[in-house]
Amino acid sequence: MTEQTPIVIVGTGLSGYSLVREFRKLDKETPVIMVTADDGVSYSKPMLSTGFTKDKDADGLAQANPEAMAEQLGVEIRPWSTVTGIDTDAHELKLGDQSIRYAKLVLAWGADVIRLSLDGNAQDRVHSINDLMDYRAFRKALAEGKRVAIMGAGLIGCEFANDLRNGGYEVDVIAPDSSLMPSLLPETAAGAVQAELERLGVRFHLGTVVERAEKQGSGVELTLGNGEQLQADLVVSAVGLRPRTELARDAGIRSGRGIQVNRALETSAPDVFALGDCAEVDGRVLLYVLPLMACARALAKTLAGTRTEVSYGTMPVMVKTPCCPTAVCPPPMDAEGEWQVERDGADVKALFRSPDGDTLGFAVTGRFALEKQTLAKEVPPIHRD
Ligand SMILES: Cc1cc2nc3c(=O)[nH]c(=O)nc-3n(C[C@H](O)[C@H](O)[C@H](O)COP(=O)(O)OP(=O)(O)OC[C@H]3O[C@@H](n4cnc5c(N)ncnc54)[C@H](O)[C@@H]3O)c2cc1C
Repeated sequence: MTEQTPIVIVGTGLSGYSLVREFRKLDKETPVIMVTADDGVSYSKPMLSTGFTKDKDADGLAQANPEAMAEQLGVEIRPWSTVTGIDTDAHELKLGDQSIRYAKLVLAWGADVIRLSLDGNAQDRVHSINDLMDYRAFRKALAEGKRVAIMGAGLIGCEFANDLRNGGYEVDVIAPDSSLMPSLLPETAAGAVQAELERLGVRFHLGTVVERAEKQGSGVELTLGNGEQLQADLVVSAVGLRPRTELARDAGIRSGRGIQVNRALETSAPDVFALGDCAEVDGRVLLYVLPLMACARALAKTLAGTRTEVSYGTMPVMVKTPCCPTAVCPPPMDAEGEWQVERDGADVKALFRSPDGDTLGFAVTGRFALEKQTLAKEVPPIHRD
């Protein structure tokens, strides 16, 4: 008897592990191999920006090692295994000079951090935190320090700012935009979050960028575009993420902002699927957990033999800034309408209304954040079937 060719999944992030968990509910037999470039430890990435608030270091955030995951899920896991190419005709995955044959291949290999090129000699004191291993390195480097400069005022930069203040660190945030989380929040809501973070002691330097990072003793001296100079013990770069598409493109798999898949998570190559931060699903790149969970459930059914399309519901994003609880459900990019805003200090309720008066999106902060579930019911789902 010949051995069955396995399903191969690249990535042991939330996408890879959620998919296998869902798949094993439907199929306990088909062999599955998971390969990952990192240590394969299971953890919840959103928790990385809550470590100080929840009093957990990298070990505290780790949920299970790959051996335990392999046992629990009935799969083989190969940590420290970096994929270097895909031969879609031969149904083979390349890992340097080794290869693995797949019956079906799932790309769940996430997004890369965008790295800014800065002048100066302090690049190695600039940390990006995009996985548990990065977080471990960051916490180690921070052990001696007290002052952190964060580049970027998006969701991740703001969450780290709040968390580091809760840990007792001095925090400066530098960002080119004039308001926080500009791609997510209307200005009034962003203003409320900024005011509360400032009340907590975060210092913002908006409308400017870091141009130079120079070593100074064990720390860093930053020179900003507006001429200001800042001292920090280390720098966190949180300027954005880019879905990993390069290896897919090299293999001839159609990619745009992400690896392009239809609602059945099928790429342009036969038997190759993608989900999570690396995927552009039906034209959407959504770097959040709710969409990847919906994709994992649908793809598990497809892999188990019933081709299933994902159907995105309404997917609000919770911003983990406990000093100013915030939830947002951005309206569709091309939606017609306008924001109607109610503000009472740190409490903002902004509703995006269509010309017919329908609620197409919202952003709520402070006490209005409690209304997020009720409001989410008013917003139409992304997919209507
Ligand atoms: C600080 C922070 C806070 C966040 N907070 C929230 C939140 O509150 N709510 C929310 O919805 N989302 C949040 N997100 C986003 C969310 O965490 C991600 O959308 C999600 O974790 C992505 O999971 P993934 O499995 O697709 O990718 P990843 O977790 O990045 O996993 C990618 C996997 O692929 C592997 N890999 C990559 N390249 C290769 C290769 N060439 N060969 C082999 N393996 C490879 C990696 O080693 C890894 O195992 C947050 C993100 C961050 C960074």
